[in-house]
Amino acid sequence: MRVIVVGAGIGGTSAALSLCRRGIDAEVYEQAPEPRPLGGGIFVWSNGMTALGQLGLADKVEGLGDTIERFEFLTDGGRMLGEMDFGGFARELGAPTICIVRADVLRTLVDAASEVIHFGEQFTGFEQDADGVTVHFASGHEERCDALVGADGRQSMLRRKLVGEPEDRYLGITTWRGVIPFDHPKAPPHTVRSYFGRGEQFIFHPVGSKRQFWSGAAAAPQGEQDEPGAVKRELLNRFARYPEPVPQIIEASEESEIIRMDVVDRAPAESWGKGRVTLLGDAIHLMAPMAGQGACQAMEDAIVLADCLSSHGDVATRLRSYEAMRRPRTTAVASLAHRNASNVSLTSRPAVAMRNLRMRLIWKGPAQKQFVKMLSEAPKPNGAPAEASRGVTSPSG
Ligand SMILES: Cc1cc2nc3c(=O)[nH]c(=O)nc-3n(C[C@H](O)[C@H](O)[C@H](O)COP(=O)(O)OP(=O)(O)OC[C@H]3O[C@@H](n4cnc5c(N)ncnc54)[C@H](O)[C@@H]3O)c2cc1C
Repeated sequence: MRVIVVGAGIGGTSAALSLCRRGIDAEVYEQAPEPRPLGGGIFVWSNGMTALGQLGLADKVEGLGDTIERFEFLTDGGRMLGEMDFGGFARELGAPTICIVRADVLRTLVDAASEVIHFGEQFTGFEQDADGVTVHFASGHEERCDALVGADGRQSMLRRKLVGEPEDRYLGITTWRGVIPFDHPKAPPHTVRSYFGRGEQFIFHPVGSKRQFWSGAAAAPQGEQDEPGAVKRELLNRFARYPEPVPQIIEASEESEIIRMDVVDRAPAESWGKGRVTLLGDAIHLMAPMAGQGACQAMEDAIVLADCLSSHGDVATRLRSYEAMRRPRTTAVASLAHRNASNVSLTSRPAVAMRNLRMRLIWKGPAQKQFVKMLSEAPKPNGAPAEASRGVTSPSG
């Protein structure tokens, strides 16, 4: 079987590697002329690390990032709302949670899949018939395959052609973020700190190599822009009353390297594919970053896609079974991210007080259980050789 994947992001490269590990001939076509790994810090939660383990890359990613032991939720005044013991979760789930620069994850995947990635090839369209799919590129190049996978991200052209134009939902929050070299006694190792204010959140965590990722979020009208040259000043004003080291983190950031982005997601899609064509990752389930799961879900998609394509039946049936397995899972995770975003956008004092009370109560038990359940529902290895994560002992071992 020959599969063409459009897009060499985290989803597309994971899909190609997963397919190749199952003996399926997979090729990736990427519009960028060369590898361009970009992006801030991301969480690769235990479920993402489990997927990377199945691609043989968990050790590499673990070595590049920072292993998270503790997650703290606090008010903007520094009062503890709840905490999670990630060391314990890692032992329970058999994989750690790693915070890392997104570019380092992508570079690892691209290096591993380099033999099957074709850069500088922009997908423009496809036709399918009973025997296969013909794929067209802007260069005039054409390819024929048995199955076509759109992993072409948020602006997916393949999705537009296949199932229609999706609508972004603005969640009422804008974010600023950066990655900086930062060493401060109040930025503890292996720890994520997330402060919740009124219509605000500030989160920071290590991402390996003595760097910290930070992100500030605030309720704001959609499309609002910062005055050029005033971003840092505005952020320092906004987060001045937050405990150390929040103001110090902003102070240590370069104005030109602060990225602003409005938070959007999309309603779950009814249809993910037709015939021999399907979608994967942000192309089909763009979610708010407030659960830190977009890339992890794209990697899970990749594992399940390869499982389904290496099973029996005609290609279209195998793809529909991939979609049927992934739709409920990604819908549940996207809905958690949506709820988390609505916790940030609250501005009225009573609503904020209620949220803080709820967080204090639920983080003691139910929310942690629900969260671990979500992480534990990652696709399990199904025949492909897996790699155990370094430094993690499973409950049985
Ligand atoms: C602020 C923020 C924080 C986040 N934090 C986390 C986190 O902590 N954990 C987590 O798991 N996820 C996180 N995410 C989400 C994560 O980054 C994305 O879900 C993930 O990178 C999506 O990967 P993808 O491969 O589906 O798409 P993309 O990374 O967008 O890749 C798509 C690729 O397709 C290529 N392409 C597009 N069109 C064409 C075409 N016509 N022809 C050929 N190639 C094409 C693009 O050039 C690109 O390389 C975060 C996102 C944001 C915005």
